[in-house]
Amino acid sequence: MPLPRGYISHSQIRTYKECPKKYYFAYIEGIQPPINEKVFLGEMFHAAIEEYFGRKISGSPPNEEEAADVFSSAFDSACLEREIHWQTPRRETRERGLAFLQYFMRHIAPAIQPLMVEKELSAEIPEIGVILKGVIDLVEEDFSITDFKTTTSRWSSSRANNSPQMIIYKYLFDRSFGSVQASLKYEVLYAKNAGHIRHQTFVIVPAADAVEKLLQLIGHVVENINGGVFYAIANPYCRYCEFHGLCRGKKPE
Ligand code: SF4
Repeated sequence: MPLPRGYISHSQIRTYKECPKKYYFAYIEGIQPPINEKVFLGEMFHAAIEEYFGRKISGSPPNEEEAADVFSSAFDSACLEREIHWQTPRRETRERGLAFLQYFMRHIAPAIQPLMVEKELSAEIPEIGVILKGVIDLVEEDFSITDFKTTTSRWSSSRANNSPQMIIYKYLFDRSFGSVQASLKYEVLYAKNAGHIRHQTFVIVPAADAVEKLLQLIGHVVENINGGVFYAIANPYCRYCEFHGLCRGKKPE
């Protein structure tokens, strides 16, 4: 079975590692269930900071009020177009998103010198003949790479260090532009409500064999997808899985 999109990406690898059956529903069958409000908020936050960085690159960054307007209008219009599963009410989610953005504008944005934003990169991995794609949130003028996360609770350092996402981005960056020394980091904004926004920065220092391990992981995932291996990994989070209803009644063929 060929890769359903013709390439592999971090989100595909993450989904397959979480549960191959979930991958089957999402990518092989292409089922698109309603997104939950946490994912939706993350998308709207990214839309707002993309606009901020784009305007900063062109020399006229928006102020706090203008950035909030970008977030609010993106949020409101997307609410009309998207099917969203609101586990937390819409108004609270909107307020939390605006609070994340305000924190970003006051405490993170001033120090950033953006060079590229939402940069899509792809490269063929010669060892396995597979195309790897990724979209990098931010590349700064010193070539540092940053990925922004919005979430409800703090990240552990093992979560940040064990994710292959940054290794993928660095691999794609080096393959596209040549190898450079650059920092890699996650900026994690987290809060359960708008009243108390917190922030973590995780600087990732890849191990010497990080790329080798990444290519092994990708090779393993692609081999399983090609082979039609889509078993279920039942876990305590199944009840939050967007395919939970489907999963119990249907087995991948
Ligand atoms: S409900 Fe659990 S086992 Fe079923 S697809 Fe989702 S994560 Fe996998």
